[in-house]
Amino acid sequence: MTHAPILLWFRRDLRLHDNAALQAALQTGRPLIPIFIRDGLIENLGAAPSWRLGQGLDALSGRLGDVGGRLVLRSGPVMTVLKALIAETGATSVMWNRLHDPAARARDEVVKQSLKALGIEARSFSGQYLVDPWQIATGAGTPFRVFTPFWRALQQQEIPAPLSAPTRLPAPEVWPESEALEAWALGRAMQRGAAVLERHVRVGEAAALDRLSEFRHDGLAAYPDRRDIPGAPGTSRLSAALSLGEISPRQCWHAIMAEEAAGNSGASAFLRQLAWRDFAGHLLFHDGALPDRCWRPEWEDFPWNRSGDTPEVLAWKQGRTGVPFVDAAMREMQVTGTMHNRARMIAASYLTKHLLTDWRIGERWFAEHLVDFDAASNAMGWQWVAGCGPDASPYFRIFNPETQKQKFDPQGQYTTAWIAEMSPDPSPLALEVFEALPRSWNMSPEDAYPDPVVGLPEGRARALAAYESFRDRS
Ligand code: FAD
Repeated sequence: MTHAPILLWFRRDLRLHDNAALQAALQTGRPLIPIFIRDGLIENLGAAPSWRLGQGLDALSGRLGDVGGRLVLRSGPVMTVLKALIAETGATSVMWNRLHDPAARARDEVVKQSLKALGIEARSFSGQYLVDPWQIATGAGTPFRVFTPFWRALQQQEIPAPLSAPTRLPAPEVWPESEALEAWALGRAMQRGAAVLERHVRVGEAAALDRLSEFRHDGLAAYPDRRDIPGAPGTSRLSAALSLGEISPRQCWHAIMAEEAAGNSGASAFLRQLAWRDFAGHLLFHDGALPDRCWRPEWEDFPWNRSGDTPEVLAWKQGRTGVPFVDAAMREMQVTGTMHNRARMIAASYLTKHLLTDWRIGERWFAEHLVDFDAASNAMGWQWVAGCGPDASPYFRIFNPETQKQKFDPQGQYTTAWIAEMSPDPSPLALEVFEALPRSWNMSPEDAYPDPVVGLPEGRARALAAYESFRDRS
C-alpha cells in the first residue's frame, strides 16, 4: 500500500463540505496536498470575477489552515505545474471535481490522459451541478432544449445528499513551496473599484453557509412574492458563492428540500430557480459555443449593431442611458458586482432591443463586471433575452423599462437607491457609484440626469422593424 501524497486540485469548488474529490482522497488515508493552479483559463477571467476568485482563494487557504492543511499556489500550464509537483512531492495521484464548460473539459481531458501516460492515477468527481449534465436526457435520449421538461426530469433524479467536511487533513511530511496570493494580484484590473466591491461581498465557505441558513429561515417563505422586487432584495444572493463552489448546489437543494418537507411554501419556487443553473450547465455541456454563437443559427444574420463603442452602447455601459431602471441596474453591478435578476433582464433587453445591439457585447461586459460570473448562466441569460437562445423569450416581446418599473419598483426604491442625479439627497449607495466608476468616464453626482439616448417608443419601433425585415428574409 502506498503512502505517497495525493494532489487535490481545487478549481471552482472552494469548499470542504460536500467535496467528493476531497472525501475520496481522505478515504485513502494518504497525505493530501491541496493545490490551485493559475493557468490560462484563470488569466482569461474578467476583472471582477478574477478579483472575487482572489478573495475566495484567501478564504479557502484560511479554511484549510484550520484543519491542518495548506493551499499550495502555482502558476503555469497545468501539466507543467503538475509534473513539477509530482517530482517535488512524490505524489502518485491527482484528484479533482469536474467542471463542465468546454474550455475546462478540453483541458481536463488532456490532463487526465497525460497523467495516466505517466503512470499517475487521475480521478475526477461530480459536484458542480445537482446532477452531471449527461445524466439527464429527454425520453428520446437527446439533450433538453426547454426548461420545463428539464425541470420535471430533474425532479425525478436522486440528488445525492451533501458530504460532511473533514475536521483534520493528513499532511505530507514536507510541504511544497507555494507562490504568494498577493503576488498574483488577481484584482489588479479592478483598480479603484476593488475597494468598493469589497464592502459588498461575503466571501468563503463559512459565509455562504451562514447566508444559506439566514435565507432559509428569514427569506425563503417570502421568496415567491419578493424575488422580483429589486429594491427590496428577497433572493438568496448565493450566486457568487455557487459560481466559485464555496457552497454546492446540493447543499442548497437539501437545505431547502428540508424546508419544503416542513411546509415552507417558498421552497419550490427557489428549487425551480436553482434548477435554471443546472439547465444552463446542461445547455453549455451540449453546445460549447453557447457563449459565442447564436443557439438558433439563423440569428447570426440579424441586423445587430456589432460595435461596443457607439455612444448609445457606451451610455448603457456607464449607466447613463436616461432610462432609470436600466441605469440603476448597470450601476448596481459596478458597485456590488451583482445585479438583481429582474434588472439583468431589463438591462439586457434594452441593449439587445431598444439599442439593437448584439447580445455578445452585453455578455462580455457582464463577464467583466459580475463577481458571480458563470459562463453557462450568463450565456443562457443573454441568449434568452435576445431571443436567439433555447426556450427563449421571442424577440418581439420587448420589455418596456417604464412599465417594468411601475410593476417591480413602483415606489422607485431601486432607482433612487442607485441614481444620485435623480435625488437632492442621494443615498450612500448612489454616491458609491462614483467611487467605483473609471475616472475617465468623468461622471459626477452633480451632473444633470441625461435625457434618454433613444426614446422608448422609437427604440421599440426600430427593434420591431428590424425583426420584421429579418423574419421576412429568413
Ligand atoms: P436566487 O433567486 O436566490 O436563486 C438561487 C440560485 O439559483 C442563484 O444563486 C443561481 O445560482 C440560480 N439561479 C437563479 N436564477 C437563475 C437563472 N435565471 N439562471 C441561472 N441560474 C439561476 N447567474 C449567475 O450565477 N451568473 C451569471 O453570470 C449570470 N448572468 C446572467 C445574465 C443575464 C442576462 C440574466 C438574465 C441572468 C443571469 N444570471 C446569472 C441568472 C440570475 O440573474 C442570477 O443567478 C441571480 O440574479 C443571482 O441572484 P441570487 O443568488 O440572489 O438568486
